[in-house]
Amino acid sequence: MSLPSVEDVRAEVKAWLEENWDPELKVGEWWDILARSGYAQPMFPEDCWGKGWPRDLSMAVSETIAEHGAVGPPAGLGYLLAAPTIVAHGNERQHREDLFRILSGQDAWCQLFSEPGAGSDLASLGTRAVKDGDEWIVNGQKVWTSTAKQCNVGMLIARTDVDLPKHKGITYFRFDMTQPGVEIRPLREMTGRAMFNEVFIDNARVHDSDMIGGLNNGWAAANTTLMAERTGLGTGGSGGAGNAFPGPIAGQLDDRVGDHVGQIRTGGTGGGGAAAANRMMKLAQELGRSGEKPIRQKLAQLYTLQQIGRFSALRAKHASQRTGGEPNIAKLMMSDLLRLQREVGNEIIGANGMIMGPATPGHGIVQEVTLFSPGPSIYGGTDQVQRNILGERVLGLPKEPGPAKETPFKELLVNG
Ligand SMILES: Cc1cc2nc3c(=O)[nH]c(=O)nc-3n(C[C@H](O)[C@H](O)[C@H](O)COP(=O)(O)OP(=O)(O)OC[C@H]3O[C@@H](n4cnc5c(N)ncnc54)[C@H](O)[C@@H]3O)c2cc1C
Repeated sequence: MSLPSVEDVRAEVKAWLEENWDPELKVGEWWDILARSGYAQPMFPEDCWGKGWPRDLSMAVSETIAEHGAVGPPAGLGYLLAAPTIVAHGNERQHREDLFRILSGQDAWCQLFSEPGAGSDLASLGTRAVKDGDEWIVNGQKVWTSTAKQCNVGMLIARTDVDLPKHKGITYFRFDMTQPGVEIRPLREMTGRAMFNEVFIDNARVHDSDMIGGLNNGWAAANTTLMAERTGLGTGGSGGAGNAFPGPIAGQLDDRVGDHVGQIRTGGTGGGGAAAANRMMKLAQELGRSGEKPIRQKLAQLYTLQQIGRFSALRAKHASQRTGGEPNIAKLMMSDLLRLQREVGNEIIGANGMIMGPATPGHGIVQEVTLFSPGPSIYGGTDQVQRNILGERVLGLPKEPGPAKETPFKELLVNG
């Protein structure tokens, strides 16, 4: 298949938007049109509601949507994480139905991976799914589940066979969060918000047909999700000039879509991402501090790191240029970027950093970044875990000591 040029794609999308974008539509109606057009995620194959285009053409689509002042595809973890997992591991029905529900914003997904005893060592998870006819009965506890309160569906990984080694007895499910037996308790963070939640699962049910990637193959599917998370962190959101939160619980599907233009959701990154250096430069200028050498140097460092991070993330998405470990490196760089942004920002605003609220210099963005900055070093696998992966899988260093890989899960020590 011959690919169009970037210029052709821009012209094609512009013409399409002139015909189809209407700020008077409802959010749900607009997302439906966008998903059917193939522009919601052009990198997906054509039989998965995409166009099979590479990264640069896909970026041209989201830039053109943004330039037109239209709203981009749905925000959230369904689009970022569940969708690529379904593309890679889902069956035909899941591609046709579940994927479409994500791209058209009908479902909002959360990630039910971490547990109180299974974070970095995710394969130690203890949530059990036990077969009952053509369904599974699920019991366990998940934690740090971002946006669970707003989500009607979860990416659940649960243990389906304790006789197999820990990585092999796990299955990945599309899990209904609205059913009886699912209790969501918010956890307040130091940002003052409660994005996190604990999720208690007590005799909840999931059907066989909601398995993604097949029985006991959940580790492979979970790794696809984690890779998407690590790669996605480097480049940030889904594009478009604005966004809204998908799914029936957030209640935005019936909003006038034009009212969501300009409302970029950061997904909790608290102001990190590609605009970091520009934002800090503007702040330094506003406060008359951009001429100070220490601040100029840090701003230059921030800009440089941001550009390197951007190019690394782009390289990570081009299969032909991969040497291994790019998503892990991209994620490490994102964590560094946010920490540096925190330092520069606090140097610029000085003692104002102690005051919270939009009425402070920079409208509170530095304080936001400061309080959120530890997050990216932890979610999607901590910095230490990224380095372990790079050491073991890319550099070929010896593996960490531990029980034999083939030891059945039920014979492992707790957290062993
Ligand atoms: C903002 C945010 C959002 C999140 N959202 C979600 C979500 O939506 N869904 C979800 O499932 N989870 C989510 N998480 C949870 C996240 O994935 C876990 O916190 C993370 O995997 C670490 O697990 P843990 O907290 O249990 O820490 P632990 O695994 O207990 O780690 C504690 C410390 O030990 C270090 N450590 C652990 N093992 C090793 C090792 N082998 N070598 C060297 N150092 C090691 C770690 O780096 C860390 O510093 C989120 C976390 C954050 C911060």
